[in-house]
Amino acid sequence: MMAVEAPYGRKTQVAPNIDEVHILWITAGLGCDGDSVSITAASEPSLEDVVLGAIPGLPKVHLHNPVLAYANGEDFLQVFHQAARGELSNFVLVLEGSIPNEKLSGDGYWAAMGTDPATGQPIPTTEWIDRLAPKALAVVGAGTCATYGGIHAMKGNPTGCMGIADYLGWDWKSKAGLPIVNVPGCPVQPDNFMETLLYLLRQLAGVAPMIPLDDALRPKWLFNFTVHEGCDRAAYYEQADFAKEYGSRKCLVKIGCWGPVVQCNVPKRGWIAGIGGCPNVGGICIGCTMPGFPDKLMPFMDEPPGARISSFLVKPYGVLIRNLRKITNHTLKKEPKWRHNRPQSTTGYRPDMPEKTHPL
Ligand code: SF4
Ligand code: SF4
Repeated sequence: MMAVEAPYGRKTQVAPNIDEVHILWITAGLGCDGDSVSITAASEPSLEDVVLGAIPGLPKVHLHNPVLAYANGEDFLQVFHQAARGELSNFVLVLEGSIPNEKLSGDGYWAAMGTDPATGQPIPTTEWIDRLAPKALAVVGAGTCATYGGIHAMKGNPTGCMGIADYLGWDWKSKAGLPIVNVPGCPVQPDNFMETLLYLLRQLAGVAPMIPLDDALRPKWLFNFTVHEGCDRAAYYEQADFAKEYGSRKCLVKIGCWGPVVQCNVPKRGWIAGIGGCPNVGGICIGCTMPGFPDKLMPFMDEPPGARISSFLVKPYGVLIRNLRKITNHTLKKEPKWRHNRPQSTTGYRPDMPEKTHPL
């Protein structure tokens, strides 16, 4: 380990130089594989650029993801068994899907990957995490299910589901000294995930300082502003011009948008190649990047409680300003009166007038 000055002003640790790294990606939490599908759309950087070594300064990357792999069955699992036996020193563990904690949910298991050659029994996802996390250089949660539990971890669920930091502990550190890194989203925004992975790979290569994370363990540069602050419709909010139904181009707060209090860069970044981004294209923000999702944001499609106050308070200001702007806009749509086709100039210019007192 060596200490370096981080760009945000504090000394921190980076791992030793590493020139080859395996990414062991487990999709066997409870989920839909949507995060694996999502990252195939990334372009900043693309998955292909990372695994084909097109980006200078990165370690050589070997990706092992069941959705994107050529190998299957025991062939695919070999590298996971190797890592669990301690025969693979440089790997990053990526978790996708909610983690059903069988210690809470009782007998049996809810999710597993492969079978144990010794017992012939399925290997539960939690068993893989127990075996692999202590040996990993970094542990990353991809998507809301893996990071905070998501829909599977709702009140009343029988599975004991939770996110990776709930399972390992919020203060958990990898053998390289890295905290858990959470990249939430349902699914994860493709470039958010790949940019975070790129950062970690640079850190493991010894050329980047400790990844800056917020208190929900999300990369700060991606999650430190709200949906509302980046929304294409924010001007409608400021003018108290609210949609009453879907299909409107106005602010969606009264039909259920939580954007003013949710941290997510999707309206700014778009979804694929800069295009899309929930409220920009007519979808209310349901707060899927937040640790409280979904319970604390339900019922969806109702006006959020805080929005009732703010949209009520903004109304007198917004309506007045909107009408004043209409007057100004009307004025601006007319050319100045001295632009005409009459024979005399009426600009007010007088060649005999001293320069200091000239109206122009
Ligand atoms: S649609 Fe949502 S995020 Fe956009 S301005 Fe309205 S409340 Fe804010
Ligand atoms: S804008 Fe809201 S719903 Fe859309 S990805 Fe971000 S947090 Fe989720």
